[in-house]
Amino acid sequence: MPRNQDSAVPPISLTSAAGIDRGSGRRQDEAWLGAAWSHPTTRVFVVCEGQALIEDTEDGGAELVMTPSFDAPVTEAHRYFLGTDAAGVRYFAVQKDSLPGRLDAAARPAGLREAAVLLGERDSALLVHAVALENWQRMHRFCSRCGERTVIAAAGHIRRCPACGAEHYPRTDPAVIMLVTDEEDRALLGRQVHWPAGRFSTLAGFVEPGESIEEAVVREVAEEVGVRVGRVEYVASQPWPFPSSLMLGFQAHAEADGAVIRVDGEEISEARWFSRDDLRAAVEAGEVSPPTSVSIAARLVEQWYGKPLPLPRG
Ligand SMILES: [Zn+2]
Repeated sequence: MPRNQDSAVPPISLTSAAGIDRGSGRRQDEAWLGAAWSHPTTRVFVVCEGQALIEDTEDGGAELVMTPSFDAPVTEAHRYFLGTDAAGVRYFAVQKDSLPGRLDAAARPAGLREAAVLLGERDSALLVHAVALENWQRMHRFCSRCGERTVIAAAGHIRRCPACGAEHYPRTDPAVIMLVTDEEDRALLGRQVHWPAGRFSTLAGFVEPGESIEEAVVREVAEEVGVRVGRVEYVASQPWPFPSSLMLGFQAHAEADGAVIRVDGEEISEARWFSRDDLRAAVEAGEVSPPTSVSIAARLVEQWYGKPLPLPRG
């Protein structure tokens, strides 16, 4: 995956393949998969409704709780092959209806949003892949062409229809997320109607059929806050399997005579132009909470801000 090259800004979370070779050419090679599964160095973790077991590490982070395959009996159908690392270790996720009983006191279930902040690059990349597959599997059990129940194939990466022969592949829905700036290099941040007071972030929305991603940026900004965008520059992307999005991050420049904010009131209840000083003061005063999660929104705002975002005082 492309990485953010600006050394002042941390890399986009969730995106690093971390040296994992996904081995897509092996997914339909049952003999190879069987040998990989039973190899003593192979590591397996269970994913259940977006969660996996993690364990805290001494450096303040965490790692996925993984076991050899012989400790993870499973039907082949619910076994996802995720790839091979540089040392030759193969990784599988197993989809189950519950997480295993705690292997030891330190292991605890965590969802991707929490885990991604704590996990290293390799484990984060593995968990994103597994959660994305699980979300897709859960929501696409039936053939969209004929309605028959489909069966899992290709180590979790295809669903086949036994009735009509259709092959269905994992869905990824493109969404745009954009930091809009004006002529004074102020940033536009908005608050969604369901967010608590003071929470502000970048605008975002789904790409519609028949629309380029640049057009989606222009349309979404106009719809949500009434601002007219001219130039649009792609920054970076981030898989966002909640449940199946790919966030395409942009910086967008408002037209000089189109920068008056008129929020739609349906998606966005409040939006403001912030200078860097405005944002720092508002955050330090506790009036504004900028995005801080693993989301690419935080990276887009930080890239504009030029350094890590300020923290609320106290
Ligand atoms: Zn079918």
